[in-house]
Amino acid sequence: MKDTAPTLSSVKPAGRKFTGTDRRAPLRGGLQGCGEYGAGQTAGRFYPIACVALEVTQRCNLDCTLCYLSDRAEMTYDPPLSVLFARLATIHSHYGPGVSVQLTGGDPTLRKVEDLEALCREIRRLGMRACLMTNGIRASRAFLTRLAAAGLDDVAFHVDMTQERKGFNSETELNVVRLAYIRHTRGLGLRVLFNTTVFGGNIVELSALARFMRDRPEVAFVSFQMQADTGRGVLRERPDAITQDSVMRAVETGYETPLHFDTAAVGHSKCNRYASVVTAGGRAVSVLSAKRLTQKVIAALSRAEQTTDGHIDTGDSVRRMARRNPLLALRAGLHLLRCVLRLGRGLLRGPVRRQSVFIHNFMAADALEDDRCASCVFMVATANGPLSMCVHNAQRDMHLAAPDRVDGPSGPSWWNAAVPHLSAGPDLPDLSDPGLAPLKRLKGQMRAMRRNLKDVS
Ligand code: SF4
Repeated sequence: MKDTAPTLSSVKPAGRKFTGTDRRAPLRGGLQGCGEYGAGQTAGRFYPIACVALEVTQRCNLDCTLCYLSDRAEMTYDPPLSVLFARLATIHSHYGPGVSVQLTGGDPTLRKVEDLEALCREIRRLGMRACLMTNGIRASRAFLTRLAAAGLDDVAFHVDMTQERKGFNSETELNVVRLAYIRHTRGLGLRVLFNTTVFGGNIVELSALARFMRDRPEVAFVSFQMQADTGRGVLRERPDAITQDSVMRAVETGYETPLHFDTAAVGHSKCNRYASVVTAGGRAVSVLSAKRLTQKVIAALSRAEQTTDGHIDTGDSVRRMARRNPLLALRAGLHLLRCVLRLGRGLLRGPVRRQSVFIHNFMAADALEDDRCASCVFMVATANGPLSMCVHNAQRDMHLAAPDRVDGPSGPSWWNAAVPHLSAGPDLPDLSDPGLAPLKRLKGQMRAMRRNLKDVS
């Protein structure tokens, strides 16, 4: 039995292997290398990575017009739990406790709920956070209740017009779906996130959608992801009208206030823009309006930090920072109080909540920028370790074909996605061999091609 993995010379190096004592140093180095480690930078300063996706299946019950999966996704089998546990151990060894692990796919809810419960328990055991990334179709209240009991921290619903849900003709009509999903989470203690792909088909509705999100106190995190030419989806190039600036301005219009996207940074500014607001009763106020104060707080928090082994323990660090810098803490507290008071009549109409707003700018598969890949804050767990999501999306077939080594009591075994069980050796599968890995469903561009062929014949 062979016990070494084959070399995939064409695969870009997967992440940066952690070898030292400061887990944040590799990301910090990447950001410093491209001039993105300014006074407002939080990545590499307070955490070694923003999140890591763990793809638990390549199957999906939708066929989004901007799907990032590969044409070959429907030729694969789901990885067994032993493989996923091994990938979780690798994530933990790279980034330590506190990192957010996104259980994703495809749609993860197509796995058995028992599998997802086991993953949530393992993530919790390792001191990391579990986030379920789902289109919500199968995420019933009963389903989410079980996962919450098993340790799920966050649920992120992806709902938008790229999904072509039957009977819905606009983002506004889809709000019924969003409200139903929010109801499913009520009282479960989950942090609720919403993801929306911003594309040519909904850019004119973006402000209205942002306003809808602003007015949902249950939603803690709103992410707008800009159309990117990658994966199997039938839509390709991003229209000129969709830029970071146009998306920021449309979101500000929806929130009816400036959002100060330039105050605090989460990774590379061409990748991510971040805002933080307090909301109440249909009003929002940006808490990042005081740029110099925010950056002084970031510097003081950084000095008060005692660990570099994973994510910041915000509560501890804030308390330490306040003890060492009482005047700064007082100024920050007064600023927050002023923000809340500026909510005015909103305070009479609803609870005060904090909400994060994020704009994510994935790259096209054929236009990867090295500096952004080297300072990526959004990783995917692969057989060869964590890898930038943009790089992974551009190389999906290679990674689907790369075997995972799993060490068991009777020695190593290997997983490759073209066969439904662990194998004794790491031989590469041939995903283009239909006898080995039959295509189960046509999706994305392949489905469109077949439709076109039918129309012609
Ligand atoms: S996934 Fe892509 S767009 Fe997102 S942070 Fe990484 S390199 Fe930037």
